[in-house]
Amino acid sequence: MARSGAGGRRTLSPMYPKEQFYAAILGIRAPWQVTEVELKEKAEEVHVTVALSGASRSTCPKCGRACPGYDSRRRSWRHLDTCQFKTIVWADVPRVECGEHGVLQIDVPWAEPSGGFTVLMEALIIDWLQEANTSAVARRMRLSWHEIDGVMQRAVRRGLARRKLEAIKRVGVDETSFQKRHEYVTVVTDITSGRVLHVADDRKADSLDEFWALLTPKQLARIEAVAMDMCAAYVRSTREHLADADEKICFDRFHVAKLLGDAVNTVRKQEIRELTANGEYAPRGTKYVFAQNPENMPSWRRAQFELLKDSSLKAARAWAIKDAARWLWRYTTRGWARRMWKKWIGWAVRSRLEPMKRAARTVRDHLWGIVNAIVLRVTNAGAESTNARIQWIKKQACGFRNRERFKAAIYFHLGGLDLYPVSLSTHTKA
Ligand SMILES: [Zn+2]
Repeated sequence: MARSGAGGRRTLSPMYPKEQFYAAILGIRAPWQVTEVELKEKAEEVHVTVALSGASRSTCPKCGRACPGYDSRRRSWRHLDTCQFKTIVWADVPRVECGEHGVLQIDVPWAEPSGGFTVLMEALIIDWLQEANTSAVARRMRLSWHEIDGVMQRAVRRGLARRKLEAIKRVGVDETSFQKRHEYVTVVTDITSGRVLHVADDRKADSLDEFWALLTPKQLARIEAVAMDMCAAYVRSTREHLADADEKICFDRFHVAKLLGDAVNTVRKQEIRELTANGEYAPRGTKYVFAQNPENMPSWRRAQFELLKDSSLKAARAWAIKDAARWLWRYTTRGWARRMWKKWIGWAVRSRLEPMKRAARTVRDHLWGIVNAIVLRVTNAGAESTNARIQWIKKQACGFRNRERFKAAIYFHLGGLDLYPVSLSTHTKA
């Protein structure tokens, strides 16, 4: 092929044959060549036939040893469209018989061994899947839902196979709802990078065990901190798999805040019920007044909050207890942190507000892990955004009937995986 200049730009002469043109845009090189290009105008399709030149030597795709040919199979791959025309690549792909590996189809440079797409087409589908759901991509690319889903599943499989879990030091464990209200999956995230490392069914010890099983003893030894909810199952699993787990398990401030926030809300609801039953005035619509931190409140709510905060309402007292706990995350030494939290627990337990007392007892029983979170400076704040993104994935897929697909979609969007076909980088090199 005529080349001009150092940039390797190919010159298109008026006589440039269409076979050469397709060889260039498909990146077909010796020993493969484009032998035929057929335009099917009615069907709006371009069919490109590719064949091996006679002189080529057959080698085993696994070990690279030369071996005798066995037979060949006719295959086709959908490529990027040529203008508005669907473009399909055809080839008789030889199979070889390796003494060690048996009968195998040889590798072709434009596609991965499985799947009916060229690598460029597959890469384009992957790009689109990051922007839209499977049905939308299928519609736009004139492919079936199953074909698009196949690309996603393959992308996740290859991404997981390539993934390295070497540098993980801090992980967060969280639960998120799957489809129905009471179905959950456990999501393990790398706190440092934010990528999702593992998604497991349910929220049991087994769910987390699965993640630990992925790591080598060396990788397990590198784990410095595990942020989690005050959940017995996760604690049990972590204790079973990590040495010194009781110094690494962290009940971080977001999980503690959630526990206390729920307790305040329970106090508030009970109080409204009591006041109403006694025929007294009960301030309604106060849920968010006591749920938000004052510095984040819009000014109109802030005014209402200032009034309620100094009232004799039980909800106001509960709120004050919760708010005081926010300031206990500033200590840097174990001794001080423990001492101040114990003071706070004493106050909460004497509050005569049953839900606050219950929450304070939970905090007391988990204080060791709270102190770990404080001294290791571990927060799982990212979990909230991961969770929000997972709910977005669920929503844009209009829910998932199949749990495995839900998990694959989480890995696809949040796994930080290298999703693209392996030969893409070599394929596009000039
Ligand atoms: Zn072999």
